[in-house]
Amino acid sequence: MVMKSGYLWGLLALLWAQERYCPVDKVFLRWSTAQRTQQVEDTGDTLWVPVVFHVIAADSSRWLPPGRLYDQLLALNRDYAQVKIQFYLPLRGPQGEATCGVTWTISPLGAGHDYRTEEAPLKRLIFWPVDSFVNVWVVENMADNTIGYARALSDATSLPGIVLVQAVTGNRLGTLRPFDWGRTGGHEMGHVFSLLHPFEGGCAGLTPADCALAGDEICDTPGQRNPAFGCPAPGSQNTCPDQPVDLPDPLDNIMGYVDDSCMTRFTPLQIQRMRTYLLTVGSTLISPENRQARGNALQDGACEAILSLSRPEKPRPHLTILSDRIETTPTALLALYDGMGRCLMQGYGTLSTAGLPTGWYILQLPTFGLVKRFFHPGP
Ligand SMILES: [Zn+2]
Repeated sequence: MVMKSGYLWGLLALLWAQERYCPVDKVFLRWSTAQRTQQVEDTGDTLWVPVVFHVIAADSSRWLPPGRLYDQLLALNRDYAQVKIQFYLPLRGPQGEATCGVTWTISPLGAGHDYRTEEAPLKRLIFWPVDSFVNVWVVENMADNTIGYARALSDATSLPGIVLVQAVTGNRLGTLRPFDWGRTGGHEMGHVFSLLHPFEGGCAGLTPADCALAGDEICDTPGQRNPAFGCPAPGSQNTCPDQPVDLPDPLDNIMGYVDDSCMTRFTPLQIQRMRTYLLTVGSTLISPENRQARGNALQDGACEAILSLSRPEKPRPHLTILSDRIETTPTALLALYDGMGRCLMQGYGTLSTAGLPTGWYILQLPTFGLVKRFFHPGP
């Protein structure tokens, strides 16, 4: 028991101290300019993408509860609403068999996963046809502090999809700060749809002539020399001289490395690139025929009950929201976010809200896994 809790605290400390690191194979994220600039008819309709979660752990007691996968799906849909891409869990699997879009596997490959040597063996344990599903493998943890990685749909070197660690899979409840808004999944899904990191290539591609060819190949993401970490204020860093207008670094971009609560958006040209990619390379995935064949597990009562199992439940603290302050008993960490999910302030036991503009805010108590939306009447 002592050893076990020692191990747990060691793991927590490790995750707490770590920075985001996302290894991706950059070569295969770069599709040809001819492909990228082809004229694709985009009606602007929502594109529906089926995902399957493969939960892999060394023994069944360490499988992630289905409720966490349900919450991860909701987090993906929150972040991709701006792209008009929505994800769903299939009601029918590859052979038409009944499913809720989750599989369960016992294997030592699910513990201490090393992406450098174990990617192929892990994915070979279980995958569903990649032209009909986006595969998401969820492992207990990874070697080398990695929390997730991805391969694009057109990447021929290994199976496309995402690998995530349990600690970042979900949406706040049960996940670990600062990667607790389910945005590692959203970031990795951006790679599956061919997006690069905004800091790719450092300050390459800063002019209108080369912005689509170098760096992240996206013209409306300002240049960024290195990834930013933590939660720097928007506009607070400018590491590359963009032309003709020098703009600050894209610190709130979902394809960067900042904390989950601080990455909130894709740019219009990132959105266009993802949609063009899905409409061409991913056309079988989003086809009406595939959607018809798969069905939607969340529209089925039995699946909804299964997917809600063991959603984390924690004791509720007593919370007092006044016009000038917020108090909680027992004393616990409070974090206040604006409607875009940006962290405004943190404090222990009490937060002063005097001077905050009128509007809706989100209050998070990480200790209790509690998130509450509230209206502040203003100063
Ligand atoms: Zn990445």
